[in-house]
Amino acid sequence: MKPIDQISVQFMSRSVNEGFARGVVSAFLARADPTVEQLIDVKTAVSEAVTNAIVHGYPGHLGPVKLTLAFYETGLVKITVADKGCGIEDVQKAMQPLYTTGDPELRAGLGFAVMQNFTDKLAVHSKPGKGTRVVLYKQLGRRE
Ligand code: ATP
Ligand code: MG
Repeated sequence: MKPIDQISVQFMSRSVNEGFARGVVSAFLARADPTVEQLIDVKTAVSEAVTNAIVHGYPGHLGPVKLTLAFYETGLVKITVADKGCGIEDVQKAMQPLYTTGDPELRAGLGFAVMQNFTDKLAVHSKPGKGTRVVLYKQLGRRE
């Protein structure tokens, strides 16, 4: 299935860009006429993925984060958040709720759980030393 439209933006892994990424999602999804709830769901999930790239992908340094949004005729939205950071050794383990390698005072280990709950499908591809690619799918209904 080919998207009817697709955009990509790349930004540096600065935390200010978490808000920028949410803004990009809102701007792109406007044409899909999402419900307020759907829009919040997608923005929340994308925010978690982007935060992870910034905080965990590039700990203590900066690197590129690429956000790609694709929209399909069926109303499906596919979102990819990719970094070229440190990668994840054991993806299955990392995705378990409450698992975190971050500061337990700051991190709950719930980012992947949130992404899973707020979207229809989540796929995580990662290679240690190469980076991480998170793919999120959300089906938006066809609205009259
Ligand atoms: P929270 O999201 O609740 O603040 P968290 O970020 O630790 O906490 P998750 O988002 O579920 O929790 O991520 C779990 C773990 O997966 C992280 O602690 C980190 O070890 C690893 N991880 C996630 N995304 C990346 C990434 N882009 N690059 C490297 N490691 C990652
Ligand atoms: Mg997280």
